[in-house]
Amino acid sequence: MVTVKINKNLCKGCELCIPFCPYDSLAMDDTLNAYGLQPVYFKEGHPCNGCRNCAIMCPEAAIEIVTAQ
Ligand code: SF4
Ligand code: SF4
Repeated sequence: MVTVKINKNLCKGCELCIPFCPYDSLAMDDTLNAYGLQPVYFKEGHPCNGCRNCAIMCPEAAIEIVTAQ
């Protein structure tokens, strides 16, 4: 079980992570974060293989991939 945790207030909405997801599971949220920036969200129900591409690409370390047994 993999959980994609996105800290929306760390995300600056640069969109760098989005094309690196092999399942197109990330998108821009309509709701702004506390700094008035449009953050990324994980599309509920979409797959995630825990590859960490998105987390590695993020210059703000806004994405954490949590793998549970
Ligand atoms: S860990 Fe990989 S599969 Fe999961 S959301 Fe990030 S890029 Fe996509
Ligand atoms: S790379 Fe990081 S800062 Fe940029 S949109 Fe993705 S989560 Fe937000």
